[in-house]
Amino acid sequence: MAKIKLEHVYKRYGGKVTAVKDFNLETEDGEFVVFVGPSGCGKTTTLRMIAGLEDITEGQLFIGDRLVNDVPPKDRDIAMVFQNYALYPHMNVYENMAFGLRLRKVHKDEIDRRVKEAARIIKIDHLLQRKPRELSGGQRQRVAMGRAIVREPKVFLFDEPLSNLDAKLRVEMRAEISKLQRRLGVTTVYVTHDQVEAMTLGTRIVVMKDGEVLQVDSPLNLYDFPETKFVAGFIGSPSMNFIRSRVVTEGEHVYFTGEGFKVRANPTLATNLRAYNGKEVWMGIRPEHLGHKGWTPIPEDNNVVRGKVEVVEPLGADTEIHVDVMGGMVTAKVDGHAMVLPGDSVELLVDTSKLHAFDVD
Ligand code: ADP
Ligand code: MG
Repeated sequence: MAKIKLEHVYKRYGGKVTAVKDFNLETEDGEFVVFVGPSGCGKTTTLRMIAGLEDITEGQLFIGDRLVNDVPPKDRDIAMVFQNYALYPHMNVYENMAFGLRLRKVHKDEIDRRVKEAARIIKIDHLLQRKPRELSGGQRQRVAMGRAIVREPKVFLFDEPLSNLDAKLRVEMRAEISKLQRRLGVTTVYVTHDQVEAMTLGTRIVVMKDGEVLQVDSPLNLYDFPETKFVAGFIGSPSMNFIRSRVVTEGEHVYFTGEGFKVRANPTLATNLRAYNGKEVWMGIRPEHLGHKGWTPIPEDNNVVRGKVEVVEPLGADTEIHVDVMGGMVTAKVDGHAMVLPGDSVELLVDTSKLHAFDVD
């Protein structure tokens, strides 16, 4: 097992495209780190630099204590699992898993031991004689993982390994990967554009945008304390609402105000917002922190936003309502049995302890 450390790592293609800018990260030994961000933000490029499949333009990469910038992929003690599995179609499962070890001249008996052990761990013992075309998508994905496991690497690298599977299988395999990684304790870097996958798998998440790292944090810290509007909007589903508002200070209190609403900032936020008196900011609030007020009396300070319901989506346990608030759409997650209909005028109760504020762009 090994730590991975990236120090001021850059990747430029042909002197023009800067795919990765000043990437810094130090993993714990045995940690599960996820790189997440929209398509094209530099996730794969960073992973391929760690794997040695892409040269590092600038900066330093360490695996364990070793500087590996110039170490070829086969000597880095890593195993990578790709989205398209890349299995050899003419070889059966056993041969697919054994192939890499044969190339490395591992003894036949040792190969046999490792392949059977890995097959048992990922529950494909009964498939060893099959060819890839005789396997389902999920089974192929397991074989690709088996091939990585038999290498007994210090580091696992995954690049969107589940994106070719259907939704149900994806959730199953996600749990399997998580269990497997904990069992083997191998330092893992996992790339995905799916924030749910990132939240459920990562001990730490690296959020990327346009080649840059925006925030590195545990899943819950990212959710509770996003440092930028981008991270706030990217992590969490449905996405956080952003309502354009003006800051108004009245004595000891600070308010977000807009057409028909006046919401009091909690003391922590108020301290930071005081300097914005009279200025515009984004008021951020997650759908689950907006309640359907129903018929309860309006509390002091009117901590509500008003709007007209456009769409109602009952999901059983809760219902998502999409409300037009001052021309912008706001989503609220309310009780599954709330009596709300399209066209209704509603007042949404704001949980002021859960408010966020972001600079207007
Ligand atoms: P992601 O995996 O997050 O979707 P990538 O790492 O694949 O993003 O790509 C990051 C950026 O680098 C993109 O703008 C992409 O077009 C560019 N890029 C990737 N590979 C190359 C290449 N071989 N030559 C030039 N540009 C590339
Ligand atoms: Mg990619």
